[in-house]
Amino acid sequence: MSQDRIVSFYESVTNFFNKAAQFTSHPEGLLKQIQVCNAVYRTLFPVKIGDEVRVIEAYRVQHSHHRTPTKGGIRYSINVTQEEVMALATLMSYKCAIVDVPFGGAKGGVKINPWDYTPDVLERITRRYTTELIARNFIGPSVDVPAPDYGTGEREMAWIYDTYRTFKGADIDAAGVVTGKPVNQHGIRGRKEATGRGVYYGAREACNIPEDMKKLGLSTGLKNKRMIVQGLGNVGSYTAMISQDEGGAIIVGIGEFEGAIYNPDGFNIHEVMKFRQENGSILGFPGAQSIPKEKRESILEYDCDILVPAALEEVINYKNAARIKAKIIAEAANGPITSRAEEILLDAGKLIIPDVYLNAGGVTVSYFEWLKNLSHMRFGRLEKRFDQQRLEKLVQMVEREVGRLVSDEEKAMIARGADEIDLVRSGLEETMINAYHQIRKEKEDNPKIPDLRTAAFVNAINKISNDYMAMGIFP
Ligand code: GLU
Repeated sequence: MSQDRIVSFYESVTNFFNKAAQFTSHPEGLLKQIQVCNAVYRTLFPVKIGDEVRVIEAYRVQHSHHRTPTKGGIRYSINVTQEEVMALATLMSYKCAIVDVPFGGAKGGVKINPWDYTPDVLERITRRYTTELIARNFIGPSVDVPAPDYGTGEREMAWIYDTYRTFKGADIDAAGVVTGKPVNQHGIRGRKEATGRGVYYGAREACNIPEDMKKLGLSTGLKNKRMIVQGLGNVGSYTAMISQDEGGAIIVGIGEFEGAIYNPDGFNIHEVMKFRQENGSILGFPGAQSIPKEKRESILEYDCDILVPAALEEVINYKNAARIKAKIIAEAANGPITSRAEEILLDAGKLIIPDVYLNAGGVTVSYFEWLKNLSHMRFGRLEKRFDQQRLEKLVQMVEREVGRLVSDEEKAMIARGADEIDLVRSGLEETMINAYHQIRKEKEDNPKIPDLRTAAFVNAINKISNDYMAMGIFP
């Protein structure tokens, strides 16, 4: 949905790419190959709804085949267009490269409003869409692996897996055809929270660098930073909950479809979510100022330290960019800032933590899920007990040597083997911290690189270019 009539989402992404390409020394042909979408599939298929047959428009775009499978979510939204899916697929390639997830980028889109349909109809649409992808070889554990995105979730992923299995039952790796599945359908613990948790790790890392915070006039650390989250979907809700519970951030504002709420002293995000569940709306939440639906986007302009756009693209555009008060903008959504808005924000000295890095937690844990599916075994199954017994022995030895008993609480902390969820979180945390320092270093090493997004794109372009060079296609 374009609110910035002058630059489309796809053009914005292309502008970001071109801005970064100047800081690399690759031949033009190679840069072009890294920029373009390699394959675009558009299909129109019939679905019977009641007595009527509706023609559904759908896409799957594979942006880059430099690594396979390609990977990226499927979006259900009435605003889906070919250009939008192309922009999102493009971001996926760079995102995967930045966090060292060995996939090319892809994205799917089905042009429907999922809230208009019953689960029964959504199931028919999902299964038919999957069948179309199978028929054109646009899906498969080693070809292209979808995942949830806006308007889809575990339920849709289970339907996709089941449809694929119906056709390709002999494929022993069939469960790896899609990620974000329910845990009891070959999913992985920690995938649902992964994007939000990744946003938390990334924002925390950015706030932990004293010199960067000093430049913004902020104290070091996420603790007590005032945060506004726009969008309480899967990504926004986990970002808010984990940032509050584990990072000590103060949530001062929430934006949603029905309106927004703001309280400069902060509120408890769990209470807000419970209130919404009970009342069907966040509006009227006790102690907070309620902002009606028509003005809901003004929440982006309220006073806070960290603004987290966690819904859709282009919400910060040339019209409102100059009014943004937050010093840090943490892009949890894909493409929430247009390229024109970015210039305005950078001129105003803001720190933008870019989507291609910050929301990569989802695809990172998708990678873990895919690996689990291919290995046919839960992470931790082999070593958990072994580790636990070894650590128990160690604790006993220390107790003997020191002559003091370790408390049960301490023992439970030290002498335990890792479960799947522990390993997933640890792998995600490591990935997000590592990648942040990689892109920050890219910027530090080349003072001409003006911002973190450009640094992230440079990092991605260089990594993808290395793959192409290794193939020997480019001299
Ligand atoms: N749709 C998510 C994204 O935009 C997740 C993609 C995936 O897990 O493959 O990053």
